[in-house]
This record gives sequence, structure tokens and C-alpha cells, in this order.
Amino acid sequence: MLDSQKIARLTQETQTDPHNELAFFTLGRAYLEGDCHREAIAPLMRALQLNSQLSQGYALLAEAQRGAGDVEGAVATLQQGHKVASQRGDLMPRNHMADMLKEMGRPIPEPKAAVALTPELAAAGNIQCRRCGQVAPRMKERPFGGALGERIHQSICGPCFRQWIGQGTKVINEFRLNLTEKAAQDVYDAHMKAFLNLV
Ligand SMILES: [Zn+2]
Repeated sequence: MLDSQKIARLTQETQTDPHNELAFFTLGRAYLEGDCHREAIAPLMRALQLNSQLSQGYALLAEAQRGAGDVEGAVATLQQGHKVASQRGDLMPRNHMADMLKEMGRPIPEPKAAVALTPELAAAGNIQCRRCGQVAPRMKERPFGGALGERIHQSICGPCFRQWIGQGTKVINEFRLNLTEKAAQDVYDAHMKAFLNLV
């Protein structure tokens, strides 16, 4: 069923911040959950424009396109999405997209050999970034303490983390988060994990 209150709130969020990929993604998904395929397309496309590595976004966009009758568009989205998901090692969206292609009687693209983090590259201080998929030098310092800080240090590149800092400031303002409170810290962390593809 279409949750019009949620749609209104998310639409507002996307208008306030046209770079909020999470808001566009969630808005598209909310439309899709309400069987409004046509309406789901634009926000999902925008989310992918903001972050072309959003594996799950391709799967949802393809569902919306197929639901709206744009079969060829859906196939193109699936083939591109399958490639991105393979490269990133996002197994669930990858298999889901492969199944959709099979259902539609279309070939599943052979995954190109991804840029892999070889033991040599790892020994030279590189990591494979969970957000952008690139092999990149590990950040000089752990961004903050604790297990999450360590996880980010091991799996997120510097440019992606800096992008999050910009986005995180917006999250703090938008949700009026007081980060001295545990509940606010949890909201902040949840957005950060979603943005960095650490969920
Ligand atoms: Zn990155």
C-alpha cells in the first residue's frame, strides 16, 4: 500500500537536499512498495546518478521499469546493475538481478574481472573500498575509535569517507541530532553505514 505520509516526508527531504541519495532511494522504494512503478523511476534514477555503486538501486529501478512496461529499460538497468554488484561483491542484489534477467529470458552478463585487492596490494597498504569498489590506499589514520572506526579504516577509501563527512553534516542538521545523546548517535551511525555500504 502507498504510504502517502512517508512519500510526502521523503519528497520534502529530496527537495531540501537534492544530493541526498538515501532520501531518493527510500522515496523510490516507497513508491515501489505502493505499486506506483512509474513514480518510482525518477527518484531511483536520481539516487543512482548520485551514487552509481548502489547495487540495490539498480534492482529496484529495474523492477519499477518492468512494472511500468519499459522492458528494454529494465534489461539495460539489470545488466549494468549486475556488473556493479558483481564488482562490489554484493551477492544478494547480484543474484536477485540475475534471477530477473533469467525470468525475462535475457542473458546474464559475464562478470568482468574486478580490480582485485591482491595480497601484494594489501601488503602495500591498500584496501578495497566498500562504497566505490576501488582499490585505494588506506586512510592515514583511523577516522575515529571503536569497532566501527576500525571497520571504516579497513574498508573505506579517503575520498568516500570525506563525502560522508559532508553528508553527515546534513544528516545532523536535518534530524537536529545532538550527538552527545546515544539515540542521536545511533541515527547518525545508521545513516553513515547506509552511505558507506557497510550495512
Ligand atoms: Zn571509495
